[in-house]
Amino acid sequence: MIECIFTVDYEIYGNGKGALRELVYEPAEKLIEIFRKHNLRFVAFVEVAELEMIERKGTDAAIGLVKEQIRNFHRDGFELGLHLHPQWYNGEYENGRWLLDYDEYNLCILSRERIVQIVDRSIAYLRGVLGESGYMPLSFRAGNWLFQPTRTAGDVLAERGIKVDSSVFKGGLQHQHKLDYRFALRNGYYWTFRDYVDIPDPVGPLLELPIYTQMVPFWKMLTIKRIGLQRKGSSAALDGKKRLNRLLDYLRLWYPLKFDFCRMTINELSSMLERVIREDQKNPSSYKPLVAIGHTKDLIDFDSIEHFLSFLSERGIPVSTFERVYQKCLSSA
Ligand SMILES: [Zn+2]
Repeated sequence: MIECIFTVDYEIYGNGKGALRELVYEPAEKLIEIFRKHNLRFVAFVEVAELEMIERKGTDAAIGLVKEQIRNFHRDGFELGLHLHPQWYNGEYENGRWLLDYDEYNLCILSRERIVQIVDRSIAYLRGVLGESGYMPLSFRAGNWLFQPTRTAGDVLAERGIKVDSSVFKGGLQHQHKLDYRFALRNGYYWTFRDYVDIPDPVGPLLELPIYTQMVPFWKMLTIKRIGLQRKGSSAALDGKKRLNRLLDYLRLWYPLKFDFCRMTINELSSMLERVIREDQKNPSSYKPLVAIGHTKDLIDFDSIEHFLSFLSERGIPVSTFERVYQKCLSSA
């Protein structure tokens, strides 16, 4: 049995560039409209560090609209997930641009004390926005998918009440940040974990529902739509070391194609699903939750999303949320 969970990372660019109205608020409004029309819900991974800092320094007048939108998500049954880019917290705003603290880019390499500070602060901000002092999101996604090394950050999140992570994309590799999710390729559609996000632990306190990927020959990554969106996102030229690291990431014959409903064409989306449908026909009793990812800043092609939702409905594939699938995964993990 297959179910799809749509997740959208709710944020501007990771280097601080871009405006909330254009990159977050307006595209999210259109997405909500489409999902409401089909009576479906998605998970919004709200990047709280940037919102707190933008509000504190008063750098974007649309922050009020964004906070209102988050309250509307919550009220209308959309799920909120915690998304964190910790480089924002020591950020400074000078001469019209953000200078972020890249020493804190990966939450997982910071001291336990600092991780606790950051996690508590992020949850407190979300509670403040919602006006609910006891609110706790069910799910977490790390900034830039970096949930390695896992142990300390995972423990802190689990102690606070987070139960689901969706940072892993199987087959992922980023030399620059020492991310390596290739081990996860041997795992199933979901697993519990503790010390290593990519290694199942039957008594682990957290459930991993990875962003779905399929390994494809590298040339399949070169579609025009995806390249166009990547150019749009890379605002500064990469320096030599970063460019070399990026090149090393791409120098692979097989590459993990993320189930990205903003960057993939309708043909790519439907052929990705056809492959899972064929697999499911051989083994229909195994539960197959597929997590799709999108970004508000990449939301341009709403027609493809509408088509894809119709495709899922024709194929009888339900659209769900982490809150709805969590118990089902635990009871069959
Ligand atoms: Zn992000």
